[in-house]
Amino acid sequence: MKPFDGNFTQQEPLDDLVVAAATEVLKSGRLHRYNSEPGELSKVSLLEQAYAAYQGARYCLACASGGYAMAIALRAAGLVQGEPVLTNAFTLAPVPGAITAAGGKPLLVEITEALVIDLDDLERKARSSGARFLLLSNMRGHLVDMERLAAIVQSYDLILIEDCAHTMGAAWNGRKSGSFGLAGCFSTQTYKHLNSGEGGFLTSDDPDFMARAIILSGSYMLYERHGAAPPPEVFARIRLDTPNMSGRMDNLRAAILLPQLARLENSIDRWNERYQTVEQALAGAGGVEVYKRPQQERYVGSSIQFRLPGLSPAQAQSFVAANKALGVELKWFGATEPVAFTSNHHSWHYVEPQQLPETDRILSSLFDMRLPLTFSLEDCRHIGAIIVHCAMNLGVET
Ligand SMILES: *Cc1c(COP(=O)(O)O)cnc(C)c1O
Repeated sequence: MKPFDGNFTQQEPLDDLVVAAATEVLKSGRLHRYNSEPGELSKVSLLEQAYAAYQGARYCLACASGGYAMAIALRAAGLVQGEPVLTNAFTLAPVPGAITAAGGKPLLVEITEALVIDLDDLERKARSSGARFLLLSNMRGHLVDMERLAAIVQSYDLILIEDCAHTMGAAWNGRKSGSFGLAGCFSTQTYKHLNSGEGGFLTSDDPDFMARAIILSGSYMLYERHGAAPPPEVFARIRLDTPNMSGRMDNLRAAILLPQLARLENSIDRWNERYQTVEQALAGAGGVEVYKRPQQERYVGSSIQFRLPGLSPAQAQSFVAANKALGVELKWFGATEPVAFTSNHHSWHYVEPQQLPETDRILSSLFDMRLPLTFSLEDCRHIGAIIVHCAMNLGVET
């Protein structure tokens, strides 16, 4: 089998339009979001308007990272020190990290075979804990039945905040991910759907919530210069009661995000072509099970997940090693130690230990792979063939 020599962490280079936009900001010297001319909307404010329009949200705050957006969302929503926050047990470390940073205690909910939050376990834990908050992580872009989730949120009076780091551009039954609750949180970190190195968005339709989030983000009382913010009278109610926890976005990052946002839909089509190509190569071969995507879901295939049921931990490790030897970088969520962006709840020692047997069982046979847009469709077929080859060599029963 010919090895693959592509790089799984190599995103596309940013084009001349982006470079020109960055150069313009650098030459102006006005990098701070509030360093604008009278009457001028800064790049950050323009980006907030553009993202609010894309998302279909009334308000948008651009900020320092996705993790930061989640932490201030919880604070702006009124989280009190020591309160439980429900969240799915399969997510990445910035999620329990944000809950902890905001003073909350992660209360982990099981996932299902479809890699989404287990709604029965959610109901059980909402009832038994009396938790007020649900930070739903749409991990690896998989959306749960959002109508059923919304019904549970309503019947337990939960405040829903969505982590959409992997679902920017995704939708359920035509409704954008991030618009089902009080707020949506997004990341523009290099490995997500827009690339500014670091960065994030918080979106909401709730004026008081958004005013508090803007003050929290470090607005120095210059909130009237925001692009997609509630009117000044809303701030008047809360401006002196809300602390400043600086985490603003700057004009340089905003300038390089604007042209990328304009072609996000095109990037999504390209991700999905790659996803479907790998999916086809894997389907039914070597005991590999690819996750079926629900009809209602509009997904963004920036990564792909599959299972090899019945694998022992030792076999999983040798499967990962065999793929790696042929140039294919897989993540395995069953490992005992966190490895490069992969972590599971057992390695979050700042969180109270919790029993999640289903999640552990599901993660022990789960593999995950990034699909950067630098891969061609031919690359995707090649990668698929390598994975199947390695699975067949393991002798896993189909
Ligand atoms: C990347 C990521 C975030 C936010 O990441 P930042 O690095 O803080 O921008 C949140 N949730 C998940 C699941 C992620 O993968």
